[in-house]
Amino acid sequence: MTDKIPQTPFALLSGSAQWGLAFPDDLHEPGVKVLDRGLCFDTPWGPTKNWQVIEIDADHAGDGKSRTILNVFSHGWPVDAIDPSMHRKVAWVMAQSGVRKILADSTCGSLNKFLKPRDFIIARDVLDFSQTQFSLLGGRLRHLCSSQQMFCPNLAGLLEKTATELWPQPGRVIGHEQNLVAVHNWGPRFASRAEAHAYQTLGGDAMNQSIGPEASAAREIGACFISASFIVRFQDGILDGGSDEVDQIHKDLAHVSSRISLLTMMRASQTTECGCQSLHVTRPAEYAINAQGGEIPRGN
Ligand SMILES: [Zn+2]
Repeated sequence: MTDKIPQTPFALLSGSAQWGLAFPDDLHEPGVKVLDRGLCFDTPWGPTKNWQVIEIDADHAGDGKSRTILNVFSHGWPVDAIDPSMHRKVAWVMAQSGVRKILADSTCGSLNKFLKPRDFIIARDVLDFSQTQFSLLGGRLRHLCSSQQMFCPNLAGLLEKTATELWPQPGRVIGHEQNLVAVHNWGPRFASRAEAHAYQTLGGDAMNQSIGPEASAAREIGACFISASFIVRFQDGILDGGSDEVDQIHKDLAHVSSRISLLTMMRASQTTECGCQSLHVTRPAEYAINAQGGEIPRGN
């Protein structure tokens, strides 16, 4: 038995930044309640589980109107298997829901000697050599997806402002002005020393296992996207010799990072001034005429 996909412009993709928490229950954030949880949605590729709908009352929403936020646990990954194709199901659900603003949170490993564990980072670009694997697009001929702005500048500004209010020292909040590049690595193993050095040489600053497909999916469905992440370790081979405090860092920062994600989506406006929505263009059906005498295709 699957559930009906609710309509909302806001989605929060929870990640390892929220490990160990009951979300949003443990935050006790005023004006927030869970409307529905444990939802399972059917997709053309099978079901996707662990969704919930969070309601924000009018007094606590940025535009003074009550809103709902669609939320999925752990990027939509199953808890008992490695299945990267789940990203496509998550993207499809967001498209059906009419989602226009997406925040995904995560933790990441540093590829940059100056990005330290406990730093909160808001990347500005993506390095992902595998981005077509789970595309939602209906063919290559009629769809143009620009990558000139992989992350929404408006959401980035709001996220940086929110994080600056709350993020504890000694961690720093590093926003878009630093032009950080996030690398996608499917995992589940961490990058090898050789891989980390290769991505570092190519300009990568931090790496995680979810940002690539999420950023591409947001572009394909014409939504704004932002990544809220914090560094939990140096990737192997980047700065050896430091102590490994991954679990302690998660424990110390999961609550505040989850609160930053939630508050950002509570405050997000529905503006289109950022231009993200125009970065996916659907061309006329004539673009897909088969030059060998085919008919104009129907649908997308
Ligand atoms: Zn945008």
